[in-house]
Amino acid sequence: MMALSRPACLPRSATQSYVMAVDPRNTSRRCPACGLTTRENRPAQDTFHCVGCGHQAHADTVGAVNVLRAGPGRAGPARRDAQAA
Ligand SMILES: [Zn+2]
Repeated sequence: MMALSRPACLPRSATQSYVMAVDPRNTSRRCPACGLTTRENRPAQDTFHCVGCGHQAHADTVGAVNVLRAGPGRAGPARRDAQAA
């Protein structure tokens, strides 16, 4: 069996990775542009449309951005929760 080795063209830092657990709650409802979190931001399963600022994207893209930002030290917009009706 042949051992895997780091490709010579990549710097050491590009080959290092780690797994981090993040809180997944509201990652598909939080606007990555303004931080507004409300279920109304998801008019359909695959659609994200922020009712606060109008930002639109595929819902999976929004979820992925929010999961990335949930890691420690990641910058993102301040969280802004919708007012209770
Ligand atoms: Zn927004």
